[in-house]
Amino acid sequence: MEEKKNNFLGVMFECCHVYGRLYKNKQGTFYEGRCPKCLKPIKIKIGQNGTNTRFFKAY
Ligand SMILES: [Zn+2]
Repeated sequence: MEEKKNNFLGVMFECCHVYGRLYKNKQGTFYEGRCPKCLKPIKIKIGQNGTNTRFFKAY
């Protein structure tokens, strides 16, 4: 029942030290988004053990 919990993921973008969000793609296979400052694209693959990690650091 955790699938519908969140459609986005909070991340700290290490490149600019800003907080932002990544949104789940249609297939639910990864989160993607961009750094709000430098617009660097970020993708995080959603692992088999789900999305229990809420915060990622993007380098
Ligand atoms: Zn950045």
